[in-house]
Amino acid sequence: MFEDNYRQRGLRNKLVRLLRQKGITDERVLSAIGKVPRHVFFENAFLEHAYQDKAFPIGEGQTISQPYTVAFQTEKLNVQPGNKVLEIGTGSGYQACILLELGAVVHTIEYNRKLYEKAKQMLPKMGYRPHFHYGDGSKGLPAFAPFDRILVTAGAPVVPDALTEQLADHGILVIPVGDREKQVMVRITKKGDELIREDFDYFSFVPLLGEKGWKK
Ligand code: SAH
Repeated sequence: MFEDNYRQRGLRNKLVRLLRQKGITDERVLSAIGKVPRHVFFENAFLEHAYQDKAFPIGEGQTISQPYTVAFQTEKLNVQPGNKVLEIGTGSGYQACILLELGAVVHTIEYNRKLYEKAKQMLPKMGYRPHFHYGDGSKGLPAFAPFDRILVTAGAPVVPDALTEQLADHGILVIPVGDREKQVMVRITKKGDELIREDFDYFSFVPLLGEKGWKK
């Protein structure tokens, strides 16, 4: 259905070297990025963009995140094999593939019907099988909680309480929080009744919509 030849593998290895230079150190994350064929998410005319370190439009006004951003968020999430992970913002499905490569059981939720349908069709053909959900992920996914890890791949105005509530003990939430243009990467670790917050670098995500997100 899709081709993954030596040229694409070569470009992927080059991307992995670049991410290493940019400060990504988790070998498991780098190896996952080395494995997932990102070019499959690109139309033929744009193939040369697939392994550049930049975000790219995937239709519906949305983007496939920049590889550095995917690597950064995934590194901070510290996924362990067998973890139950919720990803909010399926988008292209690329990030979900990375989480699956790390051995997680992945639930991914998307608010845009077309993108949900597209990812749901595409990923299994590539051999990736997350659980796909359609709906407003700003409220989490209570029916499947608790989660060991929650990853939000859209920019939120605040940390929704629903998400910290749906974290398992010792669970980790990674979420970009800020205004519509710029967000700080926040990591929240749950230890019993305590929530420990760490702030990292600034990023620029498309807005998280929905009840606990931005109004359109
Ligand atoms: N993780 C994606 C990148 C996502 S871009 C990838 O790997 O390609 C952010 C996505 O979040 C968009 O697809 C957008 O439609 C979706 N989104 C925005 N608000 C949402 C919400 N409340 N619930 C679920 N998805 C949402």
